[in-house]
Amino acid sequence: MTDYYERLGVSRDADGNEIKKAYRRLAMDSHPDRNNSPDAEDRFREVTEAYEVLRDPEKRALYDRYGEAGVKRGAGGGPGFGGFDFSDAFEVFMREFGGMSGLGDLFGGRGRPSRGPRRGSDLRMRLSVSLEEAARGAQRSVKVKVLDPCDSCEGTGAEAGTRPERCSTCGGAGQVRQVQRSMLGQFVSVRPCPACNGAGETISSPCGQCGGNGRRKVERMIELEIPAGVSTDDYLKLSGKGNAGASGGPRGDILVLVDVESDPAFERHGDDLVTNLAVTMSQAALGDEVEVATIIDGAARLKVPAGIQSGQALRLRGKGMPRLRESGRGDHIVRVLVWTPTQLSKDEKELFEKLRAVESPAPEPDLEEPGFWERVKRAFTA
Ligand SMILES: [Zn+2]
Ligand SMILES: [Zn+2]
Repeated sequence: MTDYYERLGVSRDADGNEIKKAYRRLAMDSHPDRNNSPDAEDRFREVTEAYEVLRDPEKRALYDRYGEAGVKRGAGGGPGFGGFDFSDAFEVFMREFGGMSGLGDLFGGRGRPSRGPRRGSDLRMRLSVSLEEAARGAQRSVKVKVLDPCDSCEGTGAEAGTRPERCSTCGGAGQVRQVQRSMLGQFVSVRPCPACNGAGETISSPCGQCGGNGRRKVERMIELEIPAGVSTDDYLKLSGKGNAGASGGPRGDILVLVDVESDPAFERHGDDLVTNLAVTMSQAALGDEVEVATIIDGAARLKVPAGIQSGQALRLRGKGMPRLRESGRGDHIVRVLVWTPTQLSKDEKELFEKLRAVESPAPEPDLEEPGFWERVKRAFTA
């Protein structure tokens, strides 16, 4: 039995921020959408379970005092922490990092009914978009395979003219109780009825079209609206567009994990974009006005001030990425690189020699006084 702190790889006095950071890293790494190894789903569930306890000061205090028993039973009661399964883990993950879905939806507490119609499963997919699409926002049609209610039995799974019958093993409850006695006392466990798989109903003559499942797989085009400003790992959520539930249950959701492709011309730092601009030595010394290609505004005029140093950064305000679901945009930062000529024509050589005869020597570099770009770079690598 591993310790929750060990699972997240944090010390026992880690603060909330460290815990969240550690969880994000581990959850991203073990998320079954990105990790195909067979134990990824278990690891994802385990780190999420640990996170869900340690992020909550009350649960964490109970855990510190009583260990797992303190958070798994009693204490606050309710459906509680007894069976923390994969869909719980996925909801926690969405709540923490599903920046684009309404949090209300996620907290909307769709309990897991133990009998009768069940909510269909969520459909998860990845979608790659270019940086420009992420900047402009985009519309995409995507083909999905999704379970629809079978039209010949209307989702019941029973042959036309018949109806599902109440399960005789569980009497329709969908659950069976099992009592075990041992030296330590009596344990009552409740598990889904094995005869009806928890549905509470059985079908004696299954529908010929769907084999009694009540659902059939169909291919459908869905329209995705990718909002301007998305980043890799943002989720889009299409509520109620996922798989139909068993026994006529409601549909699950479609969850689209966005992947923003890297762009050879632009480095992205949050809402800011950075590009490089090469200038000649005379442009740097005398100043100039140049054109810079921006992500969605075409060519922008940029004034290069006289005396700029190689590595300094200039800012085109508001020409970066739009802020997701907010107004305003980040900046486009132009990193200026002074290019030293490698092959001089006869004229150039003469001029440089004349220049050398009159120019003042370069000053000692002042390491105490970082230039603007140094500061920008630090801010970005922090
Ligand atoms: Zn059917
Ligand atoms: Zn049953």
